[in-house]
Amino acid sequence: MMETHVWSIPMRTRFRGITVREGMLIRTGSGWGEWSPFLDYTDVAVVEPWLRAAEEAAAGDWPRPVRTSIPVNVTVPAVGPEQAHDIVGRSGCRTAKVKVGEPGQTLSDDLARVEAVRDALGRDGRIRVDVNGLWDVDTAVASIGALDRAVGLEYVEQPVADVEDLARVRRRVDVPIAADESIRRAADPYRVRDLEAADIAVLKVQPLGGVRACLRIAEEIGLPVVVSSALETSVGIAAGVALAAALPELPYACGLATVQLLTDDVVTRPLLPVDGELPVTEPSVDADRLAALAATEERRAHWDARLAAVREFRS
Ligand SMILES: [Mg+2]
Repeated sequence: MMETHVWSIPMRTRFRGITVREGMLIRTGSGWGEWSPFLDYTDVAVVEPWLRAAEEAAAGDWPRPVRTSIPVNVTVPAVGPEQAHDIVGRSGCRTAKVKVGEPGQTLSDDLARVEAVRDALGRDGRIRVDVNGLWDVDTAVASIGALDRAVGLEYVEQPVADVEDLARVRRRVDVPIAADESIRRAADPYRVRDLEAADIAVLKVQPLGGVRACLRIAEEIGLPVVVSSALETSVGIAAGVALAAALPELPYACGLATVQLLTDDVVTRPLLPVDGELPVTEPSVDADRLAALAATEERRAHWDARLAAVREFRS
């Protein structure tokens, strides 16, 4: 028998156009899993793998960890240099992921931001930039060169939207390229590999169908992996941590320090970074918090209908 709880948690600041994050926690036996596909994902075939990930988590079916903590990056939004410096300084992280290419801003804005981040991190810190596919090929080539000359880049995440363009950019720059938005469904990583479009694959546990599914993908594509979140509560983040903990190699910090983007959490000890690392632990759900964060009757009905649609799709 499966128990379900629908929660609703406001975001600290608008992110991905979202101000309130919603999802379902499922419990089967003693284990918990998070099913929180974004509300704009209306295709049942897209949200089904997200449920597989939750079911795997609730069943406690995760591979054995090979490390006890996971290095994570701090995320710097497209803010001014003072604020960027402050965010990095307070984070304790040795790696920063900086958003660049924001509409309405210029390369000078991006340069000022990454220079402030370099100043806050010191010479040994690593800076990666995330473009969310907003540049065209020529802008990407010019901007990557300028940013890399200014501060030295670890890699550039999704400089252009199209996977074929990603391959074109990769052939024209020296900085490693990471594919994020180009990997959303289980078949996508193989396309990235076959086109030689990226040096690094950003994998997210829920959209790709669970920790074990991601481990298989990682093995088959032969690219280093950066595990990232889908803005989950600590229950969902724990699945990302389980993947990062089980990967044979983990050369890069992961994008799993996102619990602080939510104003609340459903566990007793939220998965927040200490000295730039997350511990590899199983979260323990706090029944009082879960009750306090329960969604309205109307939203519960929406999620129940969503779940019923996935079951119907499977049968
Ligand atoms: Mg990204």
